[in-house]
Amino acid sequence: MTEKQKPVLRFAPSPTGMLHIGGARTALFNWLYARHTEGTFRLRIEDTDRERSTPEAVAAIINGMMWLGLNWDDEIVYQFTRASRHREIAEQLLAQGKAYRCFATPADLEELRATQRAAGKPIRYDGRWRDRDPSEAPPGAPFVVRIKAPQTGDTIVHDVVQGDIRFANNQLDDMVLLRSDGTPTYMLAVVVDDFDMGITHIIRGDDHLNNAARQLQIIRAMGWPVPTYGHLPLIHGPDGAKLSKRHGALAVEAYRDMGYLPETMRNYLLRLGWSHGNDEIIPTEQAVAWFNLESIGKSPARLDFKKLDNLNAHYLRGMDPAALAQEIEALLVRETPPRRLSEVAKQRLIAAMPNLTERAKTVVELAASADFLFTDGPRALDEPAAKILTADARRYNAEYLSQVTDMPWSATALEEKARHFAEAKGLKLGQVAQPLRAALTGRTTSPPIFAMMEVLGREETALRIRALSQP
Ligand code: GLU
Repeated sequence: MTEKQKPVLRFAPSPTGMLHIGGARTALFNWLYARHTEGTFRLRIEDTDRERSTPEAVAAIINGMMWLGLNWDDEIVYQFTRASRHREIAEQLLAQGKAYRCFATPADLEELRATQRAAGKPIRYDGRWRDRDPSEAPPGAPFVVRIKAPQTGDTIVHDVVQGDIRFANNQLDDMVLLRSDGTPTYMLAVVVDDFDMGITHIIRGDDHLNNAARQLQIIRAMGWPVPTYGHLPLIHGPDGAKLSKRHGALAVEAYRDMGYLPETMRNYLLRLGWSHGNDEIIPTEQAVAWFNLESIGKSPARLDFKKLDNLNAHYLRGMDPAALAQEIEALLVRETPPRRLSEVAKQRLIAAMPNLTERAKTVVELAASADFLFTDGPRALDEPAAKILTADARRYNAEYLSQVTDMPWSATALEEKARHFAEAKGLKLGQVAQPLRAALTGRTTSPPIFAMMEVLGREETALRIRALSQP
């Protein structure tokens, strides 16, 4: 392959809301194919709908992409800034007789629609200005520019996912390219931008399949190369119904806030519509090596939160403790009010990580299970912990502490000592460990308590136990 022929892909969201998970999957598939082929992956913000496009939505898309690790090449293209270029193409088509001015007024079109409705016919522009001379229009009358689309035969979209999809040309009317105020339509803008950006492959949701037929008409009229299309089936909710607000968690940010890792999301989104045998765990590097367009599924994918949890637990365990501590901190900083970790807390968190990840499925669970490491000083007790810390239990804690203060400070030595201590008192190990856990964490469940004592250190352990040693 020469440099020139390398695939160029793009993700082209309309910034009218959050980056939702359907969009994220589209972005991922484009990104993966670009990386797999060592091609180019570009981002285009389709902000021509000025009413609905907001800077907040642009920021949400960019942040979502960055969080997912879907880095794009070259500058972001903002579609709205290219309006004059889109207009130029419409004028070129006009000059070549491949488009025409249509002077039908809104009232004319309403009348046409009413007639078609009454006759039970599909609503379609009837081409009334297709062959008329513009001089027949009243001077200075407003007009739109329409494409002179083929009226017979078929337009076939060759789609790598859906196969060949045939559209009868007599079903497609002469669509508008330029509105009467001279602004380009979305359909024109997409085609011109894809051409100018050198896009070779268009992977997007199958809600755009009909658009592909229309866009092909413009591409053909211009004599431009036809890109390879792949239209992805929709994502359905866990109940099999089309994904909607009712299912919740549509925005990528929501997944971040629930404590899923970007690596998890890439793996999970990949499996929503792409497969490699029965493999469920496909780290990104492997996905880049394997990704192809042939293995995109034809039927809608279903969200499965259990799978998502299992994947996340897997990636949590494999993650570098320091990086994971950073994820936890990022989560705490987003809370209101924001929480920040001291250097000491970070070190504790990192040291405790192998124990913590064993029991957590999300970063949120991790952060919650580690909160006793974040601040210094005595812990507030939850109800079960308070029950455990009876007068006897508090005395045992203090006594145990006095026996370990001068010992080497390691989980094994501390546990060993606890065993002896329990034996001497005729207690089970748990009867010694539980009160220690309650005093040190404020709870009755935690990672292995002697390992946590090691992490907290001699002084902090002593301080917490002493503060709670009086009945
Ligand atoms: N802007 C369109 C959307 O957000 C995508 C257009 C395309 O991919 O061609 O649905």
